[in-house]
Amino acid sequence: MLLPSALVHAQNVSASGPSYLLLSQDPDFLEQLSKVSSTAYSSGRTRLVSLSVPLNELPAWIASRLREVSPGEVYNGPAAEGAEKDADPEIISIISKADPGRLMNYARDITMTGKRNSGQLDYSAASGNRQAMDYIAASFKGLGYSVERQCYKERKADKECNIIARRAGEPGNRAILIVGHMDSVGFENAGADDNASGAAGVLEMARVLSGYKSAHSLIFVAANGEENGITGSYACARIMKASGELSKVDWAINMDMISWNRDGILEIETNKEFSAHADWVGAQARLYTNLRPYIAMPAWGSDHVPFLEAGIPTYLSIEHWEDHSPCYHKACDKLESLSWDYAVQIVRLNLAVIAGKTRLTGLPPKP
Ligand SMILES: [Zn+2]
Repeated sequence: MLLPSALVHAQNVSASGPSYLLLSQDPDFLEQLSKVSSTAYSSGRTRLVSLSVPLNELPAWIASRLREVSPGEVYNGPAAEGAEKDADPEIISIISKADPGRLMNYARDITMTGKRNSGQLDYSAASGNRQAMDYIAASFKGLGYSVERQCYKERKADKECNIIARRAGEPGNRAILIVGHMDSVGFENAGADDNASGAAGVLEMARVLSGYKSAHSLIFVAANGEENGITGSYACARIMKASGELSKVDWAINMDMISWNRDGILEIETNKEFSAHADWVGAQARLYTNLRPYIAMPAWGSDHVPFLEAGIPTYLSIEHWEDHSPCYHKACDKLESLSWDYAVQIVRLNLAVIAGKTRLTGLPPKP
């Protein structure tokens, strides 16, 4: 479904020459790009430029971060209204178990592991990246999940791995995948918003869902290497496709940067083919949280992209990019000034989406 307002935006986008979607908003890239481009569209996460020189004359590291898009693919604005029904008391009871304090504790523990870039695995087998892998694996295990280290790259001092937790659903049933990246750009004890917050969201969802039997199988992925080319999630999609597991995944959820807030807006990012699904997610946000849901298209630059490219309906939940963390990709991306009341709303939304899509039955409390 193409929203009427998307058409209005689309006409604005098509005004002059080809438009290129920014596939990165790293500050260095933005600075270099600004010298050879002008803004064609800018709303939230979705930024398009017109180039003043041909794409093939740009340095490869800049050209590789641009993708030509057609106007009809582009939208950034409020999710469609009107899809809401009445809130389900059972869903309210499930999602209210997500706790801002626990979420913050997970994020703090991940943040404080040291230097968390996967490239650090070339220098030390005790790097922050390794510590974060171990911490997340132990946390999943403590919650009763079966845990896999999905290693896809040899590093000089260690292996680069995703940490995957699984619990089987009913026999013959389908699966839901929840992903968030655990690595950072690599500053010491930083990357709290990007993306200890999203990895903590994966753990907190796993904690809440450990109290329920799910009809769908659940697959939680703490992805590595996102900041170095989304390597972990590309490897995960490739390995799961080869094993046949990916064909069982009905849809997937990504959390990246969920803890910086000024205006309560959440961006739900996907590709146009799944915009109706994203609008449904937006409706759940209005029903079960105090978030203001926006839809962003097309998708770029995080762990949802490999799964979208594999044809899985996937969305990214992310803080409002119009006013994102000023410490994005900087050493000051620390726990202070982040909002766990906002982050927990996003976790509750993603739990409500799962509860709305599969049957969850409460398990007796663990002894
Ligand atoms: Zn990130």
